[in-house]
Amino acid sequence: MQYGAYSTDSLMSITSRPELVFESGKGSWLVDQRGKSYLDFIQGWAVNCLGHCPPEISAALLAQAERLINPSPAFYNAPMVELAGLLTANSVFDRVFFANTGAEANEGAIKLARKWGRLHRDGAYEIVTFGHSFHGRTLATMSASGKAGWDTLYAPQVAGFPKAVYNDIASVEALIGAKTVAVMLEPVQGEGGVIPADPAFMKALRELTRARGILLIVDEVQSGMGRTGKLFAYEHAAIVPDIMTLGKGIGGGVPLAALLAREEICCFEAGDQGGTYNGNPLMTAVGVAVVRRLLQAGFLGEVEARGQYLAKRLLELSARHGQHGERGCGLLRAMILADERGPEIVRRGLELAPQGLLLNAPRPNLLRFMPALNVSEAEIDQMIAMLDGLLQG
Ligand SMILES: *Cc1c(COP(=O)(O)O)cnc(C)c1O
Repeated sequence: MQYGAYSTDSLMSITSRPELVFESGKGSWLVDQRGKSYLDFIQGWAVNCLGHCPPEISAALLAQAERLINPSPAFYNAPMVELAGLLTANSVFDRVFFANTGAEANEGAIKLARKWGRLHRDGAYEIVTFGHSFHGRTLATMSASGKAGWDTLYAPQVAGFPKAVYNDIASVEALIGAKTVAVMLEPVQGEGGVIPADPAFMKALRELTRARGILLIVDEVQSGMGRTGKLFAYEHAAIVPDIMTLGKGIGGGVPLAALLAREEICCFEAGDQGGTYNGNPLMTAVGVAVVRRLLQAGFLGEVEARGQYLAKRLLELSARHGQHGERGCGLLRAMILADERGPEIVRRGLELAPQGLLLNAPRPNLLRFMPALNVSEAEIDQMIAMLDGLLQG
């Protein structure tokens, strides 16, 4: 597609993109090059937790850009220290390593677990993960993921990630042996189709891993930072994991991620782990602004209430159109379709006029909803009205 003096063909093709270029955004709305607005229930894949261009993020970026952008990861900087303090004070973890992407944070979790296994479990290195899981797109995190086809796409895989069945504790137990160092899971499988782990399964996993002397790693890149109505999804099961990773929402739209661990697990020594941009003040200043907003009195209660409202409206819509209901946690939800019209509904949502609708279909029979955490009831109603029309068509 031609865009002014340039062509989109100059970009490497990695996915089929619609023929539009987004030029601006505010809250739950995006605007394309022709001036058409779209109601955004994707929000950068559950990333823009405060919506598009929220004032607290713009202000944090501007203020930090004028003060200090990059002293080097070899030195402490103010927002890095402050954000680590906020995260440890509001979680069960003691230390933080900042990264730029969820995949990179998960790579760090895998390295930390393997190092711990070398020191404390006789070189054990295997990490049990789950079918249909998603942990990122680096070679190790693709190998950890249970996505169909990824075992051969860039073969050979990184070894050491046997796959258990989600919500099936016996399948995990069967895979634990002398080489096992950890179990890693998403408390809600996001890319796999918005499938929450049963709190009883999370509790059983914690008991099992503790009894066998191995680590429990929660990948909260999608489920963390208020997305499920609690600051972190592990809180729903009232468990204490050993390691957690964060991404997406923590940066509210900028590249920021984090690896958190309990003190007794932190075994990196000088030189073991690092990265040029890790903990840079420009991004961690945004993280501070995001966390401060999420911790404001009543914010997470509102997310919970909006999640229940969205669930209720989706259920009504599903019943009216003979679809198969909805599921999810907080503001990470999915409607289960009676057929495989998901991709078609997503495409027709884009084409709606005068305003378009942005939805995602992680599977052909599933529509996923991941609006801004501060989405209004009126915006939910507007989305439901648009979807109502799309389901009729
Ligand atoms: C998105 C996601 C990742 C990967 O994050 P990137 O920032 O794209 O590397 C990892 N784990 C989960 C659960 C995710 O949803």
